[in-house]
This record gives sequence, structure tokens and C-alpha cells, in this order.
Amino acid sequence: MTPATTPPGTPASTPAGPPVQPSAPTAAPTTAITNIAALVTNDPSLGDGSPIGLIQDAAVVIGGDRVVWVGESSKAPATDNAVDAGGRAVVPGFVDSHSHLVFAGDRTQEFNARMSGRPYSAGGIRTTVAATRAATDEALSANVARYLAEGLRQGTTTQETKSGYGLTVTDEARSLRVAARHTDEVTYLGAHIVAPELADDPAAYVDLVTGDMLDACAPYARWIDVFCEKGAFDGDQARAILTAGRAKGLQPRVHANQLSYGPGVRLAVEMDAASADHCTHLTDEDVDALANSRTVATLLPGAEFSTRAEWPDARRLLDAGATVALSTDCNPGSSFTSSMAFCIALAVRDMGMTPDEAIWSATAGGAAALRRTDVGRLTRGATADLVVLDAPSHVHLAYRPGVPLTWAVWRAGERLH
Ligand SMILES: [Zn+2]
Repeated sequence: MTPATTPPGTPASTPAGPPVQPSAPTAAPTTAITNIAALVTNDPSLGDGSPIGLIQDAAVVIGGDRVVWVGESSKAPATDNAVDAGGRAVVPGFVDSHSHLVFAGDRTQEFNARMSGRPYSAGGIRTTVAATRAATDEALSANVARYLAEGLRQGTTTQETKSGYGLTVTDEARSLRVAARHTDEVTYLGAHIVAPELADDPAAYVDLVTGDMLDACAPYARWIDVFCEKGAFDGDQARAILTAGRAKGLQPRVHANQLSYGPGVRLAVEMDAASADHCTHLTDEDVDALANSRTVATLLPGAEFSTRAEWPDARRLLDAGATVALSTDCNPGSSFTSSMAFCIALAVRDMGMTPDEAIWSATAGGAAALRRTDVGRLTRGATADLVVLDAPSHVHLAYRPGVPLTWAVWRAGERLH
């Protein structure tokens, strides 16, 4: 069996299921955050009754690592401590459900060349593979810590990350071992591209990914992912990879339909993957499949921004009834941002999302893409992960693009910034 499994507090129910139940009474000191101008709870039974459950003039009470009360400030219970938010807005900590932080090196030259007109192709990953293989565990770990801290300063309190720049049994396993030191949401992506030394024999590489490499990696991961794309893995290869991973207790997610139309999204739905990620090139059948499944469509606008590519159409997915998440795809090649606020701003400006929808997708949507209900919302019993924005409204996340708006971050009940 794998030691890394479902994180504590993760119910098996769908993310849209019943609200988080109150936790047992706690003896931990309570802290009230008061004088919140606008509180995004993501609980439609609260506040204005919208999907983000917006409460005006609100307070949040934290006890231990949990939210123990939310509501209007005037009704807040007595607490041991209080923090005056000074009329600022509060949103749940961001849930970044897709990143590639275990890497070494840098691809400044490639970005610079691409911005001078060269198209992006999956082959650029090989540059990072070479650098990652040459790096020590300590260097890889320091890099993961650096970008997790960078995200946390910007309000990301839950971060998924992947392997995929090792592509040998040893390098994939150590990538995941390093990732698992820093986060519970670890994804095995041996199937990022075919390893360069097996470029002429992709079938042999799929055998490795589903055999010895999987055996070495499964103990450190919760998820298995595959880049289903021309130049990476086709639908049959991707199905074989996800099926093998599932047999080892890993849950599927898919890099799907990023650079071209293809079978990735429908495979993700067929496999009940938690998420189909990218979803930039979708047929009507793909959209219908997502809308009629519990597979989340995770959109990664940093990738389209950084490759000057066509935006994914969030509006089309939302109007069809699909669940949409937003994530950074933070990686050194195609999306070197750790800023969820930046992704929110892009989604609102260019992908047809309203500010409320984009903020929901960056919090509750990301939680849904990780099949979590303990994060991504601020309701009684949820993990006390929250961001106090230096702004009177959550809308400022899209209205003030590129401006650092993090005033304070609480993660698991602890104030960090
Ligand atoms: Zn990715």
C-alpha cells in the first residue's frame, strides 16, 4: 500500500456535496477577525446567497486550525483574541491544483525566443529534464520551497505539484520524494514526455512508466497524470498509464486538449479523473462530457499568456454546466507564474469569467479539482486558510491586476503574513 493517501479531512463525496460538518469542540484559543468589509465564504447558504456566499460587514472566528464561526460582525461570539481587518476583504486561501515545481534550471532564453516569434512545442521540456537530472536533491528541494513560499506570500495555501522532469525511475522517484516533503498533493507525471533516450521507442517508455517507475513513485504520490497531446502521449497510451496508476492506488488527472483537439478530455471523463487540465481546444462533445461528469475543467491561463496562445473559453464551459477551476501551471517553460491573482485577472479579462466566478474557481474550484472539501471555503469546520486583501472588495483581485494585494495570510489557523 502507499503511505501517501487522501489527506485528513477529505471526504469521498463530491466537492459540491453537503457542507463541512462542525468539528469537535476545541480548547484552542479562539481568534476573531472582525471588521471585514466583504467575506467570500463559497457557501451559497450564507450572505447574499450567491455561489460565493458573500457576507458584508463580516467576521470569521478561528479555533485551532479550523473556522469555528462566520457571519455578520455584530453577531460574532466572544473570543480570546481579535484582529481588526480594517474594512478589508477576505477570501479563502487559494487552492492551486496544478504546478510543476520540482525542477532545476531556467528557460529565459526559450521564453525570449518565443516572444520573438517561435511557437511553443512540448520538446522544450527536455531542457528542464537535463537540468533536473543534474541537480542534487537539496537543490530541487530548495527550489520547491522557494516557489511554495512565493505562492504563499500571494495567498496560495494549498498547492499541488508534480514530477515530470526526471523521466528515469531514479529521477522521477526522487522528484516525488522531494515534493512530498513540502505538500500532500503530489502527482506522478512520469508521462510528461517520452524520455529523450527512448524517443525512438515510446512503447518501451510507456512500459517503464507503468512498470518499474510506477512502483518506485507510487509511495510518494496521491495522483497520476499524463500529458495527452500530439508529441507526448496518445489516447491509448494515456489510458494504459492512468489505468496502471489507478491499480496502484493513484487517482487520475490529465493534461488534456492544451495545444490541439484530441482525446484527453473524454479520456479524463471516462476514467473519472478529478480534473482535465488546460481544456483550450474543446469540441462540443468535450464540453458536454465535462458538464455531465464530476471531472473539473482546470484552466491555466498563465500558459496561454506565456505562449501567446488562444485563451480557453471559460464562459462556454460555465454556460454548459461544467465545474471550472483556475490554476497557475507554474513551471519554468510555459507558465512561470505562481500568482493566482494574476490568473484571476486574466480569466476575467480574456476568458469570459465574472470576478465572482474566477475567485470561486481559484478557491473552491481548485479544491474540487483535488476532490477536497476541507479547503477552498470559509465555513464552520473548514480549514482556517484565508487571505486578507488590502482592498475593500474581492473584486479588486481582477480590478487591480499586477498589484500585490495580500495584507495577511492565515494557513491552518496560523497567521503567516
Ligand atoms: Zn502542467
